[in-house]
Amino acid sequence: MNPSAQNGRGTSPQEARKRLMEGNVRFSTGKMTHPGNSPERRAEIAKGQHPFAVVVGCSDSRVPPELLFDQGLGDLFVVRLAGNILSDEALGSIEYAVDHLNVRYLMVLGHQRCGAVEAAVKGGHAEGQIGSLLRAVGPAVQKAGGMAGDRVENIVVANVGLIVDRLKTSPPILKDLVEKGELVIEGARYDLEEGTVKIVQ
Ligand SMILES: [Zn+2]
Repeated sequence: MNPSAQNGRGTSPQEARKRLMEGNVRFSTGKMTHPGNSPERRAEIAKGQHPFAVVVGCSDSRVPPELLFDQGLGDLFVVRLAGNILSDEALGSIEYAVDHLNVRYLMVLGHQRCGAVEAAVKGGHAEGQIGSLLRAVGPAVQKAGGMAGDRVENIVVANVGLIVDRLKTSPPILKDLVEKGELVIEGARYDLEEGTVKIVQ
């Protein structure tokens, strides 16, 4: 059965994670089914959407969630800014998906060699509003400060963790549902070379 023919409404957090991870296995092993792209699916969801997961990802052209997780139209509610950071508008978009569309699983997806993280590590002057992106990654640069290993990779994971924490404690919508056990928020990292997503928080 085409998994994307399912309605996302009522999908448990555990089932949502399973659907994402199974899709990522198809993608990383070259066995994509490219579900949910048919005219029938388009017509089915034209009058309303019931996505089964929210993905907060990076704008990087190499990490589109629908492709990495082999999902189709109407499956994922995606919020993307460079560095998979949050803004008030991004948070509002996430809250809309949880409160109005009843999505109960949220993944923050960082990735290997994130350019926003590399730029934040490099420092120096940034033109235009690019500096606001680098400042948003700043707390992760601090957090990963003394860690052994690859600095950029450490910050990528630290950044995911900080964003997960911020979302889990964001009142009133997200915090309340997380505390009631009705909403699951996890962090993950995407490997550019392997094509694999692994939960890191
Ligand atoms: Zn990135």
